[in-house]
Amino acid sequence: MARTKTTKRTTRARATAPPILLTNIGQLLTLRGSGSSGPRRGKDLSEAGILGDAAVLCVGGKIVSIGSRREAQRDAWLQKNKKNFQEIDCRGGVVLPGFVDSHTHPVFTHPRLVDFEKRISGASYEEIAEAGGGIRSSTDGVRKATRQQLSGHVLHALREMAAQGTTTVEAKSGYGLSFEAEIKSLESVRDAAKQWPGTVISTLLGAHVVPAEFRERREEYVALVREKMIPEVARRKLAGYVDVFCERGAFTMEETRRIFRAAREYGLGTRIHVCQLSESELAPLGEFEPASYDHMDCVGEKNIRALSNSPAVATLLPGANYFLGVRQYPPARKLIDAGVAVALATDYNPGTSPTASMPFILSVACTQMKMSPAEAIVAATYNGACALRMQDRKGTIETGKDADLAVFEVKDYREIAYWVAGPACAVTVLNGIPVSSRPL
Ligand SMILES: [Zn+2]
Repeated sequence: MARTKTTKRTTRARATAPPILLTNIGQLLTLRGSGSSGPRRGKDLSEAGILGDAAVLCVGGKIVSIGSRREAQRDAWLQKNKKNFQEIDCRGGVVLPGFVDSHTHPVFTHPRLVDFEKRISGASYEEIAEAGGGIRSSTDGVRKATRQQLSGHVLHALREMAAQGTTTVEAKSGYGLSFEAEIKSLESVRDAAKQWPGTVISTLLGAHVVPAEFRERREEYVALVREKMIPEVARRKLAGYVDVFCERGAFTMEETRRIFRAAREYGLGTRIHVCQLSESELAPLGEFEPASYDHMDCVGEKNIRALSNSPAVATLLPGANYFLGVRQYPPARKLIDAGVAVALATDYNPGTSPTASMPFILSVACTQMKMSPAEAIVAATYNGACALRMQDRKGTIETGKDADLAVFEVKDYREIAYWVAGPACAVTVLNGIPVSSRPL
């Protein structure tokens, strides 16, 4: 009952989001681009479209006006209606589009602390998985948990993300690995999303790994994903995408193609974990038009050339490299210089990237992958929106777009990546609803 009440309240709040005026903005990163509707590439990736001394008016969850602070002060409607909107004084800080975290795994119950210690003492990702750790160790927790317990964990993660400037989140299932537990996972994401003012896009990752009980009959597990999970998810609209972990130790390219064929048949989009531990030829996936190829640590020249001519986004997840202590990061410079569209996301998950912080990911992208701060911001906002095919609503600050904004308590946007793990996000506006992380 309590949850239903909260849900109703949140839905009503979103529909009647009171007008808000963000003013006294030192740097407003509009990210207004070249006019192209696709993801940003090459030089366009660093176009931040900065306005100084700016103000933004949001009404009904949308951005309705952008201008200078002086224009806002003189605006007759604003003068007359002063009592009818909330004014947020940004005190000369930086405002940018809310981060679009386009790759997360928030449906789990416990941190994986044994894996953490094992890895510190030298065990590899694959050795930990073989010893019963890794993804399969999260499966027990998810299978035993109730839908309410899982949605509580997801909601906690969404709030943590919002506190660091994230307003749109892609959330995958993938630790249930049975029909019931995968459906329960996606239901828990939907329950949590109803209680959070931001935007959540769900993805079925039933093909994360083959669960232990199917180890000797993996064909049957692939059939379960294709013939039971995908049809049910499509029928109940529990997810918009199907994802597969295509990698040695997970699913082969042929299995991936079979799963993607079922996704296409049921009208679901596709995205893929690929080229993380070893390189795969990406051409056999082209016909499925995946929205995003994720990880890409081991991507080679031939695949890079093919991707530079593709509308798909390469989503880089350097939080996993950092946490696993891997020296080699995804080749961001090579990808960007070749014209591939790149996005950045947290890969929030309990095994390889336990962080909800996009500013931290920006920091790692700049220091370890040699992306510029401007490139990292565009990759974490507009190109993230493109990876979810939501760039018509998200990812830039332009009139008519959703009122998703992050207010940072810094004078220069480059500080967002510069202050390592710094708590600089003061206010996040999610679909017109402001949430304070700390008082301005
Ligand atoms: Zn992932």
